[in-house]
Amino acid sequence: MALIVQKYGGTSVANIEKINNVADRVIKEYKKGHEVVAVVSAMGDTTDELIGLMKQITDKPNPREFDMLLTTGEQVSIALLTMAIQEKGYEAISLTGSQVKIETDDHHSKAEIMNIDNSRLRNELEEGKIIVVAGFQGINSQDDFTTLGRGGSDTTAVALAISLNADRCEIYSDVDGIYTTDPRIVSSAAKLDYISYEEMLELANLGAKVLHPRSVELAKSYNLKLYIASSFNYRPGTIVEGMDEMEKRKSVTGITYDKDEVKITVQQVPDEPGIAGQLFTRLAENNINVDMIIQNLQHNKENDITFTVNKEDLIKNKEYIMKVSNEIGSDGVEIDQDVAKVSIVGAGMITTPGIAAKMFTALGENKINIQMITTSDIKVSCLINADDADKALEILHESFELDKQ
Ligand code: ADP
Ligand code: ASP
Ligand code: MG
Repeated sequence: MALIVQKYGGTSVANIEKINNVADRVIKEYKKGHEVVAVVSAMGDTTDELIGLMKQITDKPNPREFDMLLTTGEQVSIALLTMAIQEKGYEAISLTGSQVKIETDDHHSKAEIMNIDNSRLRNELEEGKIIVVAGFQGINSQDDFTTLGRGGSDTTAVALAISLNADRCEIYSDVDGIYTTDPRIVSSAAKLDYISYEEMLELANLGAKVLHPRSVELAKSYNLKLYIASSFNYRPGTIVEGMDEMEKRKSVTGITYDKDEVKITVQQVPDEPGIAGQLFTRLAENNINVDMIIQNLQHNKENDITFTVNKEDLIKNKEYIMKVSNEIGSDGVEIDQDVAKVSIVGAGMITTPGIAAKMFTALGENKINIQMITTSDIKVSCLINADDADKALEILHESFELDKQ
């Protein structure tokens, strides 16, 4: 007998027919004699719809009430899935994040899980029940509801699997697994049988929304193997696991883009030691996360400092950024929201010369201008115009021959 944690995303429970399909899949494992904990997201686009309702009232909601609102989505889907399982003749119980006691820190809308008290889960499993848990939510030290950030149900599943020492952790969505790039954008994207935690973490952090980055981080720290597959068929999916050192590492495993960043140029600041330190210290003081940075020396002993931040951070901090720029003697701030960061990721990149050059050349030959560049051991990212993003994915996918897996 194995203990299995399965997670079903929004598209997998988008309507009653799909909820019944998930019920059948869960029961299938249960009938084999396994213990099953199913984690579910809100139905279809429910979370977006809830945010839409909120926006008719405010753009800057009270953080506690924002989470109060969003946690309702998952409460609907756990109740319906549990009823569907019961209707098919099996014992099941739904539990919210607070009922499970998924304890998080106090950061509403981006809370991190600190601890899970699994005693209730253990008791219900011992009584032979299938458990259905609401993804994406927990409670903080004041017993208020928190959410884990968009896509956070993946992290709930991984955290529960670790807490229960599960034998399997399976994440089901509307794609057959992890692909070389988003198969909705590039039709020749190829499904990967395996991907390392490191590469998956980069792809997730760099915009591939197929897994919540924190779920990969957690799985990596506890060496928990993940299985990613479709909830609509039984085709083999992708295993996310530690990398075998002997294995031949690909120079490029996957490609992704992120359209959630904006480019900010603080114009004409004095070319003096300490200015950049001052600027980025002041940004850090307000919890503004800076990603890419470049500095251009102008002829007149002044610099332009350009950096990227998350769109949300800009919305919340626009006035603060203006104020700080003014303080360091800048002549003005230019904001460009029409940018995308396109990234190639591969663990073998570090030992293969010329990968970055090949990326720049492919973009250049197709008249895609590179505005900023960052690199690490296993990734190269280029900031480009947002309108070129889909084309860039296609071009790079072909240049690195990722369709020929
Ligand atoms: P769920 O709602 O089940 O959590 P998501 O929408 O969060 O599912 O994630 C699945 C989606 O991720 C796919 O529909 C696909 O468009 C997108 N995606 C982006 N990059 C990739 C990739 N490299 N491999 C597979 N899917 C990807
Ligand atoms: N329902 C939440 C969202 O849409 C959490 C999730 O789907 O994982 O972001
Ligand atoms: Mg998701």
